[in-house]
Amino acid sequence: MTKTKITIVFLGQIPIKIDKTTISKWSSKHFEIENVLNVPITTNADGEDWDYSDDNIKNLLPEVYSGDFLLAITHIPLEDNYYARRFDNNRICATFYEIADFLKVSNIPFENLVYRLLYSYFLIYKRYGDRIPKRSETTNFTHDETRGCLFDMNGIKSDIIYSTNKPQLCNKCIDKLKNEGIEESVLNEIQRELKKIDKDLYYKILDFIQENPIWAIIISSLTAILLGIIGSVLASFIYEIIK
Ligand SMILES: [Zn+2]
Repeated sequence: MTKTKITIVFLGQIPIKIDKTTISKWSSKHFEIENVLNVPITTNADGEDWDYSDDNIKNLLPEVYSGDFLLAITHIPLEDNYYARRFDNNRICATFYEIADFLKVSNIPFENLVYRLLYSYFLIYKRYGDRIPKRSETTNFTHDETRGCLFDMNGIKSDIIYSTNKPQLCNKCIDKLKNEGIEESVLNEIQRELKKIDKDLYYKILDFIQENPIWAIIISSLTAILLGIIGSVLASFIYEIIK
């Protein structure tokens, strides 16, 4: 299977700290980032709640781009306060608006949201026969229940934290994707790749300590004893040399 090529657009200023270079180098056996563009926002919000309507966003997104589909990332509120909207010509726009706050509180790297979107829209692109379905089409690729799955609906935005740290495909989605013609080997490979979408080491250690306080005390006590022994042996060794 040839790799699906994706253009990423950063639409407007992204005020949060996000590493665009790391995102552009994300490696998958099934898709690649063909191009990364920065596109300015040249209009003001036209919605009642300072949001940007679909028509407004559509006019801001590039019509012509390289690759198979375009994923735009922004920080402005989208229509109906959705965190992602689909547009014609295989284009999607997703926003960090409100989502970034939930990721920050949970110490989840902001880049993880982009990776999660890349995988979910790659699978949507494949299951719909190499195209992103239009918003007007009835679709059923998401589920309302939060399962830590790429296809969690996240109607309650705070639930995004469960599918941006080691996200997975749930069993029901795997069955559905297989029935829609996605090969099992591809799904297995994707499940393996999804494990790489996790937290930084420091926060993984912090999570371990919070989830296993007794083990953390035992490990730190043993480490202190071990360091004491090593220090004592070293001191004896140095004393023998210099006496
Ligand atoms: Zn699922």
